[in-house]
Amino acid sequence: MAKRMFKSESKRLLDLMINSIYTHKEIFLRELISNANDALDKLYYLSLTDENIVFDRENFSIRITPDKDARTLTITDTGIGMDEEELDKNLGVIAKSGSFAFKQEHEKAEDVDIIGQFGVGFYSAFMVAEKVVVTSKKFGSEEAFQWISSGADGYEIKPTAKENAGTEIVLYLKADTEDEKYSEFLDEYKLRSLVKKYSDYIKYPIKMMTTRQKLKEGTENEYESYQEDDTLNSMVPLWRKNKSEVTEEEYNNFYREKFFDFENPVKVIHTSVDGAVSYKSLLFLPARPPFDYYTKEYKKGLQLYTNGVLIMDKCEDLLPDYFGFVKGLVDSADLSLNISREMLQHDRQLKAIASRIKKKIKSELEAMMKNDREAYESFYENFKRPLKFGLYDNYGADKDFLVDLILFDSSTEEKPVSLQEYVDRMKEEQKYIYYACGETKEKIAKLPQVEAVSEEGYEILYFTEDVDEFAIKILGKFADKEFKSVSDSASEQKEETREEDKDLFAFMKEALGDEVAEVKGTTRLKSHPVCLSSTGEISLEMEKVLNAMPNDQKVKAQRVLELNINHPMFASLQTMLTEDKEKLKKYTNVLYNCALLMEGMPIEDPVAFSNDTCDLIY
Ligand code: ADP
Repeated sequence: MAKRMFKSESKRLLDLMINSIYTHKEIFLRELISNANDALDKLYYLSLTDENIVFDRENFSIRITPDKDARTLTITDTGIGMDEEELDKNLGVIAKSGSFAFKQEHEKAEDVDIIGQFGVGFYSAFMVAEKVVVTSKKFGSEEAFQWISSGADGYEIKPTAKENAGTEIVLYLKADTEDEKYSEFLDEYKLRSLVKKYSDYIKYPIKMMTTRQKLKEGTENEYESYQEDDTLNSMVPLWRKNKSEVTEEEYNNFYREKFFDFENPVKVIHTSVDGAVSYKSLLFLPARPPFDYYTKEYKKGLQLYTNGVLIMDKCEDLLPDYFGFVKGLVDSADLSLNISREMLQHDRQLKAIASRIKKKIKSELEAMMKNDREAYESFYENFKRPLKFGLYDNYGADKDFLVDLILFDSSTEEKPVSLQEYVDRMKEEQKYIYYACGETKEKIAKLPQVEAVSEEGYEILYFTEDVDEFAIKILGKFADKEFKSVSDSASEQKEETREEDKDLFAFMKEALGDEVAEVKGTTRLKSHPVCLSSTGEISLEMEKVLNAMPNDQKVKAQRVLELNINHPMFASLQTMLTEDKEKLKKYTNVLYNCALLMEGMPIEDPVAFSNDTCDLIY
């Protein structure tokens, strides 16, 4: 019989398969099992209208048979089978599969993880086999055919005998090399773990004769091996069950096992959606951030299944960055197995699922905040950073969506408060939502500016994280109220500078040079003599954060040195202006540096500061 040639596209895909990196090779089993599953599905649909087909677990199954002596691995199904024409058409040419088109476009792109992630179909057999023999008998036909190929040079099809309908695929494994041990795929343990990993939820049993040990009769410590037929897959996925059928313990075990956590999740979100887009999802909120969560290595994403087959381990597009800590999976029959990452990104179904999942996570968190505040607070303590980053991610695209989940420490409350709670207790005449920045709650509470606003009876939000003020800047307003930093010099009611103080401020400004934009008097400080504030877009806190970032561009807030004109110190300054300008200069430096220290900012020249201070003490 003349050799038939593969169509040119298929040839190229074959080359790709044969040369793929080793870690991808194991997915051949998933692909062949998935084809067997489809073939069984097709027969199952026939059985709905054909009473001659008896549906039972014995008739509908997939079998894996490793043969170490022959170095073959056989995958058999009792599905619909293929006739001669189908063998030629289906296996002689590869459908224009998504992954193939993608790979062609990106041929130069370095190691696109396309084979590992997506369905690549029957051809993946050639990643591990030097020869493949497919024997198939179409359901309802008397004839059987054999398709034989050793890879790129083509294939033959010839008639053969086969008892039952279905397909048998024999892989003649490649010889082992230094780096690639194909004989692994003859190992029962390895095969079992591959089925568990990729095909656990295939709904037909995947069977394998398994070697077991038992105690030899009449002995106490002698063992003998025996063979037992074993079903490798668990078939019904947890997420396909009704919520009411699953115990908390089952959820917890599933989570810990599948997502490698030692702790139980704080929340399980199990949903089943039917409609324009149908899917089931099972999501978990971890109790603590994964160990690598704050590193570059961390990859967010949910597992993506279609019809019980895992097609992607971490589908990033299903989760926004700010919910990147969520673990879990999505199963949707609406997605095709042969789909590339690029197509996936544009897939409308996937987008629709992602958007619903995002809303679901939020509403669950909101409910938790409302019904179990303590649990929410401890969750929030662990995950507030990504949530706050989420506010200004994407130029604030989701800020209104996320703001309800944000809490801040407060000057009047023991526990962190939401913005809504703050606004609800605002005083009638209060115009702004006040906040103050600093390293810790305790340090902020001691800031002179905080004392001033607190004395007015206003609550102040404490920002202790570098992201806080940026997040607030993006929000702009909440419930129509603007945010105001207690260190913002403009937040004060306009105070006219008294005529008699003008010379003093001018002298002090002169002494400080470019360090400050302005020196002015204030009445808002109660017990403190000075404070530092800022005017303009960049606040003192933002200066600290931006300058801590690894880049060369340093920014500087426009600093304002504010002097408490009701403080006894102020009178001494005025006296000095007329009596001892040199001393006033030193005083100015010391006061300015004190203000910097209170803000938690570095002072430029600590030695000069120390000298000036000592001079003044004498
Ligand atoms: P895909 O499964 O994505 O269509 P494949 O290359 O894996 O691509 O398979 C091509 C076609 O060959 C399948 O669509 C199916 O019609 C047929 N086929 C493959 N394996 C089997 C099988 N075990 N039983 C019946 N038909 C099969």
